[in-house]
Amino acid sequence: MQNNKPQDSLSLDQIPVTQIKGVGSVLAGKLAKIGLNTIQDILFHLPLRYLDRTRVTPIGALQPGIDVVIEGEVRASDLVFGKRRSLLCKLQDYTGTVSLRFYHFNKVQQQNLSAGARIRVLGEVRRGASGLEFYHPEYEFLDDKKNQELQEYLTPIYPATEGLTQTRLRLLAIQALNWLDKNPLREYLPENLRAKNQTTLADAIRLLHQPPAIANSPLLQDGKHPHQQRLAYEELLAHHLSLLLLRKEHQAEAAPVLSFNRNLHQTFLSQLPFKPTQAQQRVFEEISQDLQKNIPMLRLVQGDVGSGKTLVAAMSALMAIANGYQVAIMAPTEILAEQHKTNFTQWMQDLSISVGWLTGRLGAKEKREQLAAIADGKAQLIVGTHALFQDAVNFFNLGLVIIDEQHRFGVHQRLSLRDKGNQGKTRPHQLIMTATPIPRTLAMSAYADLDISVIDQLPPGRTPITTVTISDQRRADVIERVQHACAEGRQVYWVCTLIEESEQLEAQAAEMTATQLAESLTSIHVGLIHGRLKPAEKDAVMNAFKSGEIQLLVATTVIEVGVDVPNASLMIIENPERLGLAQLHQLRGRVGRGSVASHCVLLYASPLSQHSKARLQVMRESSDGFYIAEQDLLLRGPGEVLGTRQTGEMQFKIADLQRDSDLLEKVRDTAQQLLSQYPENCQPLMDRWLGQNHRYWHA
Ligand code: ADP
Ligand code: MG
Repeated sequence: MQNNKPQDSLSLDQIPVTQIKGVGSVLAGKLAKIGLNTIQDILFHLPLRYLDRTRVTPIGALQPGIDVVIEGEVRASDLVFGKRRSLLCKLQDYTGTVSLRFYHFNKVQQQNLSAGARIRVLGEVRRGASGLEFYHPEYEFLDDKKNQELQEYLTPIYPATEGLTQTRLRLLAIQALNWLDKNPLREYLPENLRAKNQTTLADAIRLLHQPPAIANSPLLQDGKHPHQQRLAYEELLAHHLSLLLLRKEHQAEAAPVLSFNRNLHQTFLSQLPFKPTQAQQRVFEEISQDLQKNIPMLRLVQGDVGSGKTLVAAMSALMAIANGYQVAIMAPTEILAEQHKTNFTQWMQDLSISVGWLTGRLGAKEKREQLAAIADGKAQLIVGTHALFQDAVNFFNLGLVIIDEQHRFGVHQRLSLRDKGNQGKTRPHQLIMTATPIPRTLAMSAYADLDISVIDQLPPGRTPITTVTISDQRRADVIERVQHACAEGRQVYWVCTLIEESEQLEAQAAEMTATQLAESLTSIHVGLIHGRLKPAEKDAVMNAFKSGEIQLLVATTVIEVGVDVPNASLMIIENPERLGLAQLHQLRGRVGRGSVASHCVLLYASPLSQHSKARLQVMRESSDGFYIAEQDLLLRGPGEVLGTRQTGEMQFKIADLQRDSDLLEKVRDTAQQLLSQYPENCQPLMDRWLGQNHRYWHA
C-alpha cells in the first residue's frame, strides 16, 4: 500500500490534500478555505518568518522582542499582587536571571515551578515590570535521563487561519515535503529564461519549509535569501502574466471608433469659466487617441485631489456623445454622484445633452422612467452609483464607461461593468479616475492591465495648504481657531476617526464631538455627517454646508473622496495617527479648493510614537500626493496603499512589491517571452501561484 505506483507519476497539483495521512474531510475543508486543495498548494503555502529554536540562548544575552530558547533553574517563585494577581518565577543560568510571568496558572503548575526546578523556556522576551520577562511562555521540565533534543530546523511561522494551528501547518508541510521527494514538481520556467546556477524549485521549497540552523540570517528573515528571491520572482511573474492576459483578452475585443469633434469641443470649453490646464489637455489628448481606435480603451487617470479630473471626464464623455454613444459615469458614493450630476447637468445643458440619473435611492416611478430613458437612448450621459451595475439596467448603446475614484471599486466591479456594455460585438471604452497616487513600481505590476495617464498639475490660483500638528492637550486653542475662521466667514471641517471599522461607534464619536463643539461655539452653526445617516439626510447636510448655512461640519471619514466646497479653508483631523497617509492626504484635499489660504490641523492624541511622528511629519512637509504615497508605501506596505487589503486582491505568498521592486523589470520581460515562446506554461504557472484568486481576473 505504501508505494502506490500510479500516483508516483502524478504531479503534485493533481494530488488532493486528503492523500496526506491524517487529513480527513473536516481538515480538508479548513484547508480549502485558505486555498489549499492539493499537495502542491501546501508546498507553496510558504512561511512568513522563522523562529530559531535550534539553540539555547544564554540568559545574559537576551534581547527584548526576540523569540528564543533558554534553559535554567528556578530560583524563586512568588505570587505577586498587583493590578492582577500573577505568578512570578525567577529563572537563572550561569550568565544571568530573567522572569517568567503567568496570569493564569493552577496549583499544580505553581508547585512544579518552585525553586530548584530545571526548565527549558520557549518564547519571546519583553521588557516588563521586573526587567526582561517572558509572559506565558511555553516551557518543559528538563530531565537528565531523557534526551530532550532541540529543534534541528528553524521553526516556520505560516499564514494561518482559525482552526489551523502552526503545529498542524508545520506537520502538513513536512508530510508534503515527503511527497515532493517522490513526485515531480514541474518547472514552468524553461532554463533559458532562468538565471544561471539557480537552485531547483524543489530545493528552494524544501529549504524554505525546513531551513537548517545555519541558514538563519538577516537575509532569510527579511525575505532576501536567494531561495526566497527565486520563488518571489516566479510569483511576481505569475501575477504579471495574469494581468497581461487580461489585457490581451480585453484588446481582442472591438470597441466603437469615436472621432474627435472639434466644434462641439470648442463650444463646450468656451462656456467654462476657466481654461483646461496643460496637464488636463495632455491627458485628454491621450484619451482621445485611445477613443479613436477600435480596441477598447482601458486607461487609468491619476490626478491629485483637486487636479480637475472631472473636466477631463467631461471632455472624454463629449467625444462619445458626439458620435451618438451613451456614457455612464459612476461614483462611489451618493454624495459624489449628486455632485457629478449637478456639474454635468450644468455643463451639458447648453449643448442640449440630456443627463440621466440612477442611484439605489430612486423611487419606483422615477427609477422606471430613468431605466426607460437609458434603454431607449434618450439619456445620453448617465450619472450614478453602483446601481448602474444592476441587472435591470440595459443601455441603449454604451460607448464609454467612466469610473470615478476607482480605489473604492474592486477589479470585480471593473470587469462587471465592462461586461454590462457588451452588446453585440463591441465593448465600451473604459476610463478610471483615481486620486490615489500610485507609485511607479507599484503601478507597473498592480495595474499592468491598464494604460496610465497622470494629471500632474493643479489649476492655477490655488494657495497651498499649511499643515500643522497639535497635541490634543491644546484642544481649546484649536477650538478658538475654528471660532476665528468662522467669524471671518470661512467654513471648517472637523473630522473624527476611529480605529475600529465600526460605523456605529464612529458615528457616536462624531455625534459627541458635534455636541461638545456646539456647546463651546454657541454663535456657530454646527452640522454633523456620518455613515449612519440616511442618504437623504446626508444630502441635506452636505447641501447646507455647500450653501454656507452650516459653518462647521463635523464628519467621519465619509467625506473622504471628491466633495467640493471651495469656501471651506480649515480642516481639523482628530487622531490623524490612526489613518494612512494617503487617506489623510485625501481628506486634506477637501480644503485648499478656493483662493484663500487653507490650513489643516492634525490634532493628535499625545504621546505620539516615533513611528507616528515620522508619518505625520511627512504630511507637514509635503502636499505632493506621489511623494506621500511613496512614503506611505515605505511605512505601511502595498496592500494598504492600494486599499485592497479587504479584497485580498494583491496578496502575495512570498513576494513583496516594495522589497522586490528590483525584480519587476526582469519580470516584465520574462512574462512577454514566456507568453510568446511557451504559452502552454502560463496557465499552470498562474494556477500554482494565484490559485483560486486569479480566476476572477477572467470572470
Ligand atoms: P478632482 O480631480 O479632485 O476630482 P475636481 O474635478 O473636482 O477635482 O476639480 C476641483 C475644482 O477645480 C473644481 O471646483 C473645478 O471646477 C475646478 N477646476 C477644474 N479644472 C480647472 C481649471 N483648469 N482651472 C480652474 N479651475 C478648475
Ligand atoms: Mg473628483
